[in-house]
Amino acid sequence: MDLLVQAELKQALGASGCPICRVGEEAASRYLRFVLHESVNDPATRRRLASSWGFCRRHGWYFLRLECVTMRDGLGTAILAEGLLKMAEQVLDGHLAGPPGGVRKQRAARARLEKLVRSLTPRGQCPPCVVQAEHEAYALAVLGTVLQVEAWRERFALSDGFCLRHLRDALATEKIPDRLRWIVEDHHRRLRRLLADLEEYIRKHDYRFSQEPYGRERDAVDRATAALVGNWFDLPRRPPGNHGSEAERVQAEEGKHGG
Ligand SMILES: [Zn+2]
Ligand SMILES: [Zn+2]
Repeated sequence: MDLLVQAELKQALGASGCPICRVGEEAASRYLRFVLHESVNDPATRRRLASSWGFCRRHGWYFLRLECVTMRDGLGTAILAEGLLKMAEQVLDGHLAGPPGGVRKQRAARARLEKLVRSLTPRGQCPPCVVQAEHEAYALAVLGTVLQVEAWRERFALSDGFCLRHLRDALATEKIPDRLRWIVEDHHRRLRRLLADLEEYIRKHDYRFSQEPYGRERDAVDRATAALVGNWFDLPRRPPGNHGSEAERVQAEEGKHGG
């Protein structure tokens, strides 16, 4: 079994958020770092990016920010963008060079417009999105196998668990009834805790209780959003104290009850 991915998962389970979202995002970041440092001028990378019209919105901005932070420059982004924008310019050039459509030539004009739209439509997926999805699927398979081991189950139980999408993927790929049951029970337990935290969060918005200090429900909206849509780890940071892993929250609770 892949020890490298096991090490990655172990680390992700000890950190906040869905572990599969985390290892997937890390794989996409590794790929983008590789493109930035090694393959801005590589023809195969350029062809791949040409077929997808570059990165998706999220990875496009991530790439620019990565370059600004690590290189204090934007040359790589400039080179890739220049190639793609030139390609777009040529497509528009080709369209404008054709005969102008008159009332009698409506059908031909429509065909030319459809061709223009087709030319501007990506034929391939955003490459880091592909890398991310592949790594998530692989990491999920590794996790499914190691979850037979008690120590891994304990580790997983203390983590923030799956987001809804990765729960679905885990259930769709898991074949062994005992493990399936364990995953469903684990997630059900998490949902009940999260719903209790949300209820408490909402209750404290009532003016009668708004003086009460926040407890573990402080970041319930972050966790509820993550539970539904998955995690996005490179978002701008929250103020300190608003974010933590399930293990930290359990520790804080135990400390509170103990003292
Ligand atoms: Zn996830
Ligand atoms: Zn993408």
